[in-house]
Formats: sequence, structure tokens, C-alpha cells
Amino acid sequence: MSNLHQPTLLIKIQEYLTKLLVAIIKLSPDNLLETIYLCLNRICPEYEGLELGIGETILIKAIGEATGRSAKSIKSDMEKQGDLGNVAQSSKSNQKTLFKPKPLTISTVFKGLKEIAMFTGNQSQTRKINKIKGLLIACNGNEPKYLIRSLEGKLRIGLAEQTVLMSIGQAIVLSENMDKRRSKEKLESEITKAIETIKSVYSELPSYDIIIPALLKNGIDNLNNICKLTPGIPLKPMLAHPTKSISEVLNRFENLTFTCEYKYDGERAQIHKLENGECKIYSRNMENLSLKYPDIVERIPKIAKSDVTSFVLDCEAVAWDKINNCILPFQVLSTRKRKNVEAEDISVQVCVFAFDCLYLNGQSLIKKTFKERREALHNNFIPIEGEFTFAKSIVASTDEEIQTFLEASVNDSCEGLMIKTLEVDSSYEPSKRSRNWLKVKKDYISGGIGDSLDLVVIGAYTGRGKRTGSYGGYLLACYDNENEEYQSICKIGTGFSDEQLEKHTEFFKQHIISKPKPYYRTGDSKPDIWFDAVQVWEVKCADLSISPVHQAAVGLVDPVKGISLRFPRFLRIRDDKTPEMATTAEQVAGMYNQQVVISKNNTGQSGGV
Ligand code: ATP
Repeated sequence: MSNLHQPTLLIKIQEYLTKLLVAIIKLSPDNLLETIYLCLNRICPEYEGLELGIGETILIKAIGEATGRSAKSIKSDMEKQGDLGNVAQSSKSNQKTLFKPKPLTISTVFKGLKEIAMFTGNQSQTRKINKIKGLLIACNGNEPKYLIRSLEGKLRIGLAEQTVLMSIGQAIVLSENMDKRRSKEKLESEITKAIETIKSVYSELPSYDIIIPALLKNGIDNLNNICKLTPGIPLKPMLAHPTKSISEVLNRFENLTFTCEYKYDGERAQIHKLENGECKIYSRNMENLSLKYPDIVERIPKIAKSDVTSFVLDCEAVAWDKINNCILPFQVLSTRKRKNVEAEDISVQVCVFAFDCLYLNGQSLIKKTFKERREALHNNFIPIEGEFTFAKSIVASTDEEIQTFLEASVNDSCEGLMIKTLEVDSSYEPSKRSRNWLKVKKDYISGGIGDSLDLVVIGAYTGRGKRTGSYGGYLLACYDNENEEYQSICKIGTGFSDEQLEKHTEFFKQHIISKPKPYYRTGDSKPDIWFDAVQVWEVKCADLSISPVHQAAVGLVDPVKGISLRFPRFLRIRDDKTPEMATTAEQVAGMYNQQVVISKNNTGQSGGV
């Protein structure tokens, strides 16, 4: 896809999508849900965890069987072209067919994709191949390209979730008003309101399965009374803004009451108790963690007072030393088994630190102030030593008080502080990186850039000397969600233990690709080996600089040059983030600009780093 930094292209995509959705709502509303899923390259709500991402071997076999080509020749084309969708398309168009297949419908494709993703167990590979083959044979025009990309889980048509939500809002208003005479201003204001409603409803209840039928049945006006936060359905968590200094916090929160909390270093855990007694835990990424933390699930009924029937709590699960009654570092938590954990597998104990109450006894609390939500938390739940407690907090107002609390948090093995507004502007903002939550990490004390970055590994350099046989360095990238591309940001070779180096080599050997993907923007950086974008690493660095080589945030700070990290150091693997959840190009540009402002303030000079 060409450079979407041009807003006009984004607007065009939006326009096309809105027109499509209006037509579907008018002509075939039963297909609206499936259309939305197809546009988003998904088959169900994210939290259900059923994903596309069919492996290359299966797809190559299916293309071969559908077009009469050998797997070897398809593979060789794939190596030349780098995109299996294009290979499928050219294989199909070179094939002579006697009759034109019956056109594919939205339902056939959607149901087909879902069925393919759901095949498991014995014979599942053959069944997948047969089903894909059937769909491919029925494809016309450029459909093979998009079918194969959808199956790979890499559709890349420039449709971010926010674009789709906006188009749903626009389309529902336009289709309701088609036959009515409305002034342009009135229509525009209704559209703005509809977009706000749909975005806010989706952030509380991220399930198109529920929202779309409700929208079609009841219209947009009442949607936020019908579709609300519901225990059992995870909401996208509120995120914090990084800060580099306490004075920055004080400037931001001037004249506001705020609270400082310990920032625990573990794994985010959204704990749900349903009215029927069922308990569930979800990650930052809305992944179901109930099988990873059966010990937490078991204790959930005990943490609430007896008259509490249902709730959703926002918490951090932290590794806990039961003998010395203290927090253990994140590295200890990361050694815990991730799936199907049985009692005998639990080598690392966890304590849950709750910091917010989002739902209580049938009522969503997210529009209430944080002061009220925290009272609900403290008044309705019971701490149990080493198992469940509340995040440690103070109401501080001076630089010294915050500094002292920050040091105390570090001494207690925490990462720093979370500083949150208490009354004004303090509602819970699902999925937003809000300026009403600021994070101050301990790295701030020792210099550095205030926050670490979460970057995607896209290549490696072969090791020399002591590192012969393993990869000696890696190429990392941030994610530009507007262009849907990974942009190189640095080469990294420090921060690894020998054991980690060996593990990374072993892991990435399974993800080698013959050439960079068309959606890698890497400028002049040429690693020896390229990888599929599959893993996110948390990385710390000294600072950011404009780079003649790397392409991160190109066009945002400099028209042609990107940004790179100086002295990057590996901290850890971020299993709780998918590559598309990596630090964005926009965030990288923000960090760079912030640094420029600070260096200007400190030195009174203009310019960068
Ligand atoms: P982000 O979530 O901002 O993208 P990240 O995943 O790298 O970045 P951090 O920068 O470490 O996470 O900061 C936010 C995380 O801190 C939260 O997602 C949560 O898991 C954790 N956390 C620990 N203590 C608290 C607290 N008291 N309040 C809110 N979050 C907390």
C-alpha cells in the first residue's frame, strides 16, 4: 500500500467503506456483521481467541491443488514476489477454465474462513486444504489475492478498527436518513454523535456480535443504554502516558486533585465475576488468562464481601515470595507456565494488586470519578495477605512527596508510580492512552528516555566470535498503524544473557523468511536474515536521534529521515503484546519531540539530540 501519511487516502478509504456499509444496511442487513468481520480480517470478537493465520505450507498446497501447479513452483514464485496473495492471483489468472464459477457471497467466504480456523485435531490439515481449495476455485478477478491474505491473517487494506467504527457510525445515520430531507449541518452533527456513541459502546463492550444486531434492531440513539460493560466480556484497558519528570506531572495536574499509586511490575489482570458465579481473568490484550492463573480464579469468590454479586476489577498480578512476604521481579513471573496450568505446575505464587473497580453488582462504574470507583473497591473487597490486596497509594501534592513515594516504590520492587486524577476528568477511559493517568518509571531517576519501547523483531545479523552459531544482533521495528507497516528503528546487540541469545536464535530460526515483507520499511538497514513479524521485545535506550538509515516515524519529524534509538538494550520479551500492539510511529515521534523540548529547556538551545 502506498504512503497513507496523506490524509486524503485515508479519507477515500473511509468513504468507500461507508458507501459499502450503507448499501449492505439497505440491501442485505443480515450480512452487516460478516462484512465488518471480513473488513477487519477477523472471524469473532478478539477475546474469543479464534484467529486466522493459516500457515504457508497449507496455503501453498491448497493453491497448488486449486490451480494444478506444483508446490515447488508456487514456492519459487513466492520467494520472488514475497506475497502469497499475488502468487495465488497470478496462478489463478493463468489457469484456463471452461466455465465461470458461481460468484462467492459474503456469507460463503466468512463462514468458510471461520470453518477453516475452527478445524482441529486429526485430519484438520486435509480438511483445511480442501475447504481453501473449494473457495479458491470459486474465486473470480482479484478475489484469490484477498482470500489468501485473509487466510494468512494479513489482509492489509488500510482499515484500522477506528476507521471501521467511524464508518459504521456514518453508515447507520446515512441509511436512516436517505429518504428524509435534512440540512447538511443537522446530518453532520448526527454523524458526529453516532460516531462518538459507537466508539464509546465498542470500547466498553468490544463485541460486534452483540453491538451490530442491537444497532440494526434499535438504531443508534439508544445503543449506549443497551450495550454496556458486561462481566465476561473484557474491555480494552485504559493506558497511561509516559512522563520524564515529576515537574511534568505537577504541570499537567495543576489545580487538580490526584493520587499516586505504586506501579507494580507484573501482568495486567482484568478480573470478572459474573452473576452466575463464573470467574474469568483477561490480559491487557483481552486474552483469556483463566487457564494460566487457576490459583487466582479459585480465590476470586473470597475477595468480595458477601453481598457482592458481580464485578470487574482492574489489577496487576505480581510474582510473590510467600516466605518473606514480598514482591518478586517480573522475570520470576515470566517463568510461569502460560497455558493449562495445573496445581502442581504452580512454581511461582502470585499476589493480585487491585487498582480500579469498573463494575459492581450489575452497574458499570466507568463514568464515575476515580475517587468513587476506588471507594467502591476499598468498601466491597477484602485483602487477603499474599493473595489479594489494593495498590498502595497516597494523595501527594508536592515534588518532594512524590519523589519520596517513587523511591519507596522502587525499594518495594515496583517499576515506579502511576499518577491519576481523582475527581475532575477521572472517569475510566477504556482503550485510551489518557493524560489523566501518567506513569513515572524508575528509569527516570537514572536518566534514559522516561519509557521503554516495545519493538518488533524483523531481522538478524549472524554472530561473530563468541556469538558464532547464534544471531549476534537483531533488527527492530516500530509499527506504523496508519500505513500498516513495520519501520526499522535500530540494531540491537546488548542486554542478552548467553542463555537468552541461544533461546532467541532457536525461536527465530522457525520464523525466517526469504525476503522482507512488502510492509517492512527498512531504508538502508540490511540484516543477514529476515523474520516474519511475530515477537515483541521491550527495549530501553539512552535517547532517540534522527537517522540516515532507519525509517521509524518517517514523515512525522523529518520528511525523509526516520528516528533511531541510541544504545538500545534488551529488557524482555512482551508476550502480552502482538506485533501490531508495538510502540507506534506516532509514539516514537512523540518521544523524540518530547526529548527535544526537554533538551531545549535544559540548555536553552534549539535543535535535537
Ligand atoms: P502501555 O500499557 O502503556 O502500552 P506497557 O504495556 O509497556 O505500556 P507500562 O508502561 O509498564 O505498560 O504501564 C502500564 C501498565 O502498568 C498497566 O498496563 C498495568 O499492567 C501496570 N500497572 C501496574 N500498577 C498499576 C497501577 N497502579 N495502575 C495502573 N496500571 C498499573
